[in-house]
Amino acid sequence: MQKISSIDLLQQVFQAIDDLFPEMVAWRRHLHQYPELSFEEVETPRFVADILKAWGVRVREGVGGRGVVGRIKGHGDGPTVALRADFDALPIEDEKEVSYRSKIQGKMHACGHDGHTATLLAVAKVLSDTRHLWPGEVVLIHQFAEELSPGGAQPMIDDGALDEVDIIFGTHLWSGLPLGMIGTRSGFAMANADRFTVEVQGRGGHGAAPHETLDAIVIAANIITKLQQIVARRIDPLKEAVVTIGKIQGGSAFNVIAERVTMEGTVRTFDEAVREKIQQELSRLVSGEAAMFGAEATLMYEKGYDALINDPQVTERFQTLMQTLYDAKRVASMPPTMGGEDFAYYLKRVPGTFFFTGAGNPAVQAAYPHHHPRFDIDERAMLIAGKALVSAALDALWQNAWPLEEAKGLIAPPETRLHEQH
Ligand code: MN
Repeated sequence: MQKISSIDLLQQVFQAIDDLFPEMVAWRRHLHQYPELSFEEVETPRFVADILKAWGVRVREGVGGRGVVGRIKGHGDGPTVALRADFDALPIEDEKEVSYRSKIQGKMHACGHDGHTATLLAVAKVLSDTRHLWPGEVVLIHQFAEELSPGGAQPMIDDGALDEVDIIFGTHLWSGLPLGMIGTRSGFAMANADRFTVEVQGRGGHGAAPHETLDAIVIAANIITKLQQIVARRIDPLKEAVVTIGKIQGGSAFNVIAERVTMEGTVRTFDEAVREKIQQELSRLVSGEAAMFGAEATLMYEKGYDALINDPQVTERFQTLMQTLYDAKRVASMPPTMGGEDFAYYLKRVPGTFFFTGAGNPAVQAAYPHHHPRFDIDERAMLIAGKALVSAALDALWQNAWPLEEAKGLIAPPETRLHEQH
């Protein structure tokens, strides 16, 4: 092994990531222009695999379906660290006015997964170039289908993505967090994210003769109103829960009583018992309310991603690492979010942490929420995400035994780099 200190190596990889920034932007913008939906990814995994292969990374394609796993062996024995980035897009029409706007109608990278992918590619490059300087092994998990339950994480795990892995890290670029910030959260970080459909079957008829009908719209309206009471009256106020109806369809004309109404909604919780209870309460409410009108209604409840629980020890170490290497004032404790994320499944298997990298900046129109048609990121966030991931990986590979204090402030804030023209 070449004689080089851990501090020198960090400095070298951070510089390398800075130097790669134009390529990261190019990769991200390429993916942004050619988004592929969950379970339909073909060109994206090929793009990723081709780049990794060009750097001599050992690549396995089609993992769990459409995933790509790269492995880089370091010099000598050590732990195995996994880093994960998802690469799917959303069925949303891109309404941004930028040169790199989506070229595919009705599809858009509206969650920043293009940025995750570009970031992990840069991390792969710098770790591959320095593999003679660190011990153990790094596993790069490029995951398909995060946006659509049942998701790509579990099938990738089933197909060996986490084999021999000791610890895992992942990040989400976050427009709700200002550029320059890193958000961490110990324990419950993201919710159980379930989906349900209610079908109300009434009996249609003339709008002027309601007594001869079973008005599915009125029944649906009662269900929607009463469903607000599940969280308010049936769930422990100290436990988090959301029940939302996001879609309702029914009726055909202003003067016709609707025969049938379909509603779709989501339930978000952290606690498994609360999750079960809401499902039971929903089921009781839906059939009970319909029965009261002499009609029928059914509930179809689909469990989505399980809650994401960050390992407290790994998270605390990551916080210390970032507070030291970066800037204590820029490392924030995040409240949990009710969003869902299938990184949860990796964390069920191995300890790790999933953190948020601030990517919001109104000055570059990166001010819209995730899944919004004008969603965008400040691309400089990829520098912080990349440096944070590579730091977490090296710290774990060195088993936390290196002079961390000497590395104080090695990660420069992203604002110091001028933004590329949009
Ligand atoms: Mn996402």
